[in-house]
Amino acid sequence: MAANYKEELVGVFGHPVAENPTCVMQNAAFAAAGLNWRYLTIEVRPEQLPAAINGLRGMNFRGINCTIPHKVAVMSLLDEARPDAAMIGAVNTVRVDGRGRLIGENTDGKGFLRGIREDAGMDPAGKSVVILGAGGASRAIAVELALAGVRQIRIANRSVERGQAMVGDLVNRTKVNAELVPLVGRYRVGKDVDILINATSIGLYPDVEARPEVQLEEARGNLLVADAIPNPPDTRLLQECRQRGFKTLNGLAMLVYQGAIGFEMWTGQKADEGAMKAALGKAFGI
Ligand code: NDP
Repeated sequence: MAANYKEELVGVFGHPVAENPTCVMQNAAFAAAGLNWRYLTIEVRPEQLPAAINGLRGMNFRGINCTIPHKVAVMSLLDEARPDAAMIGAVNTVRVDGRGRLIGENTDGKGFLRGIREDAGMDPAGKSVVILGAGGASRAIAVELALAGVRQIRIANRSVERGQAMVGDLVNRTKVNAELVPLVGRYRVGKDVDILINATSIGLYPDVEARPEVQLEEARGNLLVADAIPNPPDTRLLQECRQRGFKTLNGLAMLVYQGAIGFEMWTGQKADEGAMKAALGKAFGI
């Protein structure tokens, strides 16, 4: 049999990128599938992004993830963005189609949605949702929840300007019933809320003692509380909500599923999510 030493390449562009753990789970999935693929963690400064994208074309990469600060800037460098990525206004996954064109996708919100459905066992259709934060993660989650048929989305954000811009885009692009609540002091979670989501960076490593200010006395008993933060997986918010008897979903679900969806877009094969979770768990020491 002739030897084949060629590796198919994918990876992530970010700045700074050193702490991004995605290579651990993607390389575990490639090994589990017996694929000779390699996921590279690549430092790309903002001014280098156009050259880096051309590099993908020149070296026949099979795809790339984009993380902070490239998710918006990359859009103008691609051949096409899929409709939901365009609605979100950001791309986290680039795949190469059959004609060699670079296609922008966003798997963040899709990964979150899969966690809600599969891990928390909830169908979001018809539900009332509060999302804390109006950054990239919040936008991706809100668009996919809107497309999944939620009844209402309230965005609670510290910066009113940023929150208003997000709600305006969301209503214009998805027609969902959405409103902004300025995040001042404690956010009171009312009886009508089915899902509370933290999509801020409050509580993200290394600021692990921080938690968003929420008041839960009036919340319904079957409230689902989800945190987008993957590190630490068990945030202060989730710990306290669990102690109060609420159901919780951590940010590792979103991280693994968005990666698994990306794996499937690149390889055309189902990802071994068990292998991905195990590899990440080892990396996070859990
Ligand atoms: P952005 O920087 O785009 O947005 C951050 C958001 O957090 C903004 O709404 C900001 O409010 C808010 N915020 C930050 N600090 C405070 C504070 N002290 N008080 C009130 N609000 C605050 O980040 P991303 O949207 O990209 O990421 C948000 C979170 O989602 C991060 O923790 C990230 O790790 C996580 N994430 C998880 C993923 C996963 O796969 N699990 C994927 C992507 C992100 P303001 O507008 O007022 O500044």
